[in-house]
Amino acid sequence: MKPGIVFLVGSGPGDPGLLTVRAVELLGKADVVVYDKLANFSFLSHLRPGVELIDVGKQSDQHTMTQDRINMRLVELAQQGKRVVRLKGGDPYVFGRGGEEAEVLVAHNIPFEVVSGVTSSIAVPASAGIPVTHRDHCTSFHVITGHERAEREGSAIDYAVLAALPGTLVFLMGVKNLEQIARQLVSQGKSPSTPVAVIERGCTARQRQVIGTLETIAQVVTDAKIGSPAVTVVGTVVGLSSILSQTGLHLPLRGQRVLVTRTRKQAGRLSEKLRAQGADALEIPLIRIEPNLDASLWDSLFSKLSQANWLVFTSENGVDIFLEQMRNRRQDVRSLNALRIAAVGPATADRLLVAGLVADVVPTVFTVEALSQTMLPLVTPGMRVVLARADIANPEIHSTLVSVGCLVDDFPIYRTLPEPAFHAILADLLRQGEIDWITFASSSTVDAFMLALGDHRDLLGATQFACIGPVTAQTARKHGLPIAAEAKVYTLDGLVQAIGDNLSASSEVLS
Ligand code: SAH
Repeated sequence: MKPGIVFLVGSGPGDPGLLTVRAVELLGKADVVVYDKLANFSFLSHLRPGVELIDVGKQSDQHTMTQDRINMRLVELAQQGKRVVRLKGGDPYVFGRGGEEAEVLVAHNIPFEVVSGVTSSIAVPASAGIPVTHRDHCTSFHVITGHERAEREGSAIDYAVLAALPGTLVFLMGVKNLEQIARQLVSQGKSPSTPVAVIERGCTARQRQVIGTLETIAQVVTDAKIGSPAVTVVGTVVGLSSILSQTGLHLPLRGQRVLVTRTRKQAGRLSEKLRAQGADALEIPLIRIEPNLDASLWDSLFSKLSQANWLVFTSENGVDIFLEQMRNRRQDVRSLNALRIAAVGPATADRLLVAGLVADVVPTVFTVEALSQTMLPLVTPGMRVVLARADIANPEIHSTLVSVGCLVDDFPIYRTLPEPAFHAILADLLRQGEIDWITFASSSTVDAFMLALGDHRDLLGATQFACIGPVTAQTARKHGLPIAAEAKVYTLDGLVQAIGDNLSASSEVLS
């Protein structure tokens, strides 16, 4: 058996852009990912299919797995020959117990590698406009635990020493003890007017921050109901936040956590667009695409194609799978030169462009129905049409073209299947009220979502739904899901726009 290995990987504070390149690379090769609540959920986007996910999530009073159990689990998994990614929030060696886990691995002769992450102690203040050092303010910063180990007598932290330090003080895990921390610092000589910031869920769409002084901060935090996880920053650098706060504040989707349910391969493009508008995009693929690999189907398709007048694509997936098959068969795209090509919308046409193929027909409204209407004036009886599409597809284009005398061959070149791997994570996130919007870019994602939801409609809470177009919206309504945003232009941009429109309409109502 090949020996296993454990990678202790930091996932950064929550912003998907702050996951390291090395972390992404290792996630893509992992057999198992062992993660906890603080892990940045964007990690899901980088996994390969079939990876095992183990949640050892710990919230401070509700331990799901003890540290000893986690340590032994890592050892066992590695002893089974697995490549294990132990994913932690921030940096694994900053209050993450990464050191303890590494010691246990060494003691059991398990090979391991640590992969540093972007620590919240620096990135979270930065995201609130606070540089932890600045030449005009300090020459050092200090990262301190605000959560003392319960088994220690008295205080493990010498507040007299802390109060005398000239640098910025950064407390992690300190919200619960904030009042006591502030009081101790003042009683040991720090000025009560020292500025303090507390930043909750920094580097995510849910970020909130409050500013006060050592004297006021405990009350300010209580009033604002700031909770864990939060970083507390003590020092005059806090004053810079009024100048250095981020410009993204005015983006239309700011503060929204939006779920992307498309296939793993397609999710990225929607996520990018959502993030550009200020949202936190969370990719949980609920469907996957399975190409039809039946050689006789493809033989028949290419033989029909050699006599056809039209080749029609109703999805990006169809184009990708068709082109991949051409490559596998070493079939030159020049063999398509006598054909006219139709694509349902601009994204599908863009996939064709990858192979240098320019669609002859793209309707102005991006539905299969509009595509068949657009083709009607261009076809004549007896023309041969090849449809390359999903097994369950809208029958309308077929019947419309047949009704005007075309000879249509419909090839189911792929299947869309539900992807069950992430159902448990999805349910957890919904239960915690972590998802503001769920996006559907196809009817199959709606069906897969309903499958994932099962009997748990109660989990939906205040979650809203957005659809790419009328067909998808109709499927969602059929399942009883209320649609708050429906794209006017049936593209990913249209979908993002519809969410923004809904938010600005509801903020006008509120104001
Ligand atoms: N290894 C982590 C810290 C683990 S201790 C790191 O390097 O960031 C857990 C504490 O980190 C939390 O209690 C909180 O103080 C802080 N923390 C982690 N992520 C955070 C975030 N996104 N926003 C605010 N605080 C965060």
